[in-house]
Amino acid sequence: MQVKSIAGHELTPGKTVKDHIHVEGTELHVPHVLLCGEQPGPTVLISAGIHNAEYVGIQAAIELSNELDVSALHGNVILLPLANRSGFENRTMSMVYEDGKNLNRVFPGDREGSEADKLAHMLFEVFIRNVDAYIDLHSGDGYEALIPYAYYLGDTPAEETAKAMIACVNTKYYVRSRCRTGGAYNLASVHGVPSVLIERGQLSLFSREEIEADKADVRNILRCLGVLPGEAMRYPKTQLLEYSDDAPCTGCWYPEKKVGEVFRRGEKLGEIRDYFGRSLFVEYAPDDGVLLHQCASLNIIEKGPMVTYGVPTDDII
Ligand SMILES: [Zn+2]
Repeated sequence: MQVKSIAGHELTPGKTVKDHIHVEGTELHVPHVLLCGEQPGPTVLISAGIHNAEYVGIQAAIELSNELDVSALHGNVILLPLANRSGFENRTMSMVYEDGKNLNRVFPGDREGSEADKLAHMLFEVFIRNVDAYIDLHSGDGYEALIPYAYYLGDTPAEETAKAMIACVNTKYYVRSRCRTGGAYNLASVHGVPSVLIERGQLSLFSREEIEADKADVRNILRCLGVLPGEAMRYPKTQLLEYSDDAPCTGCWYPEKKVGEVFRRGEKLGEIRDYFGRSLFVEYAPDDGVLLHQCASLNIIEKGPMVTYGVPTDDII
């Protein structure tokens, strides 16, 4: 795809744009950076802050927007360092401030919907569907412990390229997802845009080490796509089938395992108790697996996230 313009800006070789785009029918404005390479090549989108309390990717995207040099780029890099800006400025722990919705559950959005729907619609129509590849940066939210890993969507036209991209991510595990709705990278993949989602960082914390690791992964994928010069590194990793168990009731949560721990079928993963210390529910491992992320706050909410684990397959990249 040879894109001529994005968000009303012509992609002229050597040009850099730093601007906000207004989301029609709302008070929302989304910061974006366009880095137009001096050489021709693909257009790659990098987003962060779809979940606004996932800070590692947000900071990595801000730094990349200042560090990537248009004279070295073959193609264009578009960065959305903070997709959910109003959530960030109101410290919502990742919901869109105006309507309380999880932005990464409402794609492709709706022009006639509430703020999150309108925002998702704009992000998809203006940015996501017009690029050749997409990297979405996430972390564990304020209540989420998490180990680094990455996703791509299986059974899509762009699967081979997405697989080559995920091989460049420096994590031990990856998930070949089966979820085709709601999320930005999922929708992009269904529309033929090879996409990966990288998870790194937890509990709304951010460290220099994690920010550098995110930046290194993005640069490595850009090498793999030919946007940056040089040979891309490939990191062997194990494919996991992902399963999530939501909390069956509200109460106090006592996890038994740490993220990254490997467990056997039938082992206790955690317990929910009431405010008198009485047991309400015990979570046992339904299979052998590895804990990818879990609720790390004392409070747990009915139908909200509790544990997400991966069951290793024989597929290794
Ligand atoms: Zn997220």
